[in-house]
Amino acid sequence: MRRERAGKWRGSASTERARMEAAGLVTGLVTQNVDRLHHAAGSRRVVELHGALAEVRCLDCESFESRDALQLRLRALNPDLDVEDAALRPDGDAELYSQQIADFRVAACVGCGGVLMPNVVFFGGNVARPIVEEAMGYVDGSGALLVLGSSLTVFSGYRFVLRAAERGIPVVIVNRGETRGDPHATLKLEAPLSDVLPRLADALAFE
Ligand SMILES: [Zn+2]
Repeated sequence: MRRERAGKWRGSASTERARMEAAGLVTGLVTQNVDRLHHAAGSRRVVELHGALAEVRCLDCESFESRDALQLRLRALNPDLDVEDAALRPDGDAELYSQQIADFRVAACVGCGGVLMPNVVFFGGNVARPIVEEAMGYVDGSGALLVLGSSLTVFSGYRFVLRAAERGIPVVIVNRGETRGDPHATLKLEAPLSDVLPRLADALAFE
């Protein structure tokens, strides 16, 4: 069952993207989201520039484990930990008693015993080269680059606009408000994605 946590408009826009991919209209999708919502909506060729919270990565051997699998191991290591009454903050952090923190047993990498961290790029971190190359491949293989709902402030996304512009690939930007990519845009639409994407998907499907 799909969770509706992200709100109706994003769920809807993601679904239209998946529809367009299924119709063979999308070479690939490059996202800065870390919530796997595009996968849940049905998109398959997705490059997650900033990783995904659904995975953890070993800082030593670079292997991956699903967050769900780690959760089972953490639970087994801390069978008596009771966080039912912990106050959850909006950013996902929780208030715990200092004794709970002192007693907490951290799970290490299954392969090498190394330190695990969420597989996401934090502020100031760099996107891994292979990930950038994969996304560049999508841009190079596309007839146009469609930018949806991003100010492109962060270079990790903006670089694809520069690449498309360099190669003469048309850039279409749909965003409410100015974006860093505007000077390179072939077409810029100031409109909500929830209006534009269903119409675009319909128009292309009935061409
Ligand atoms: Zn490891």
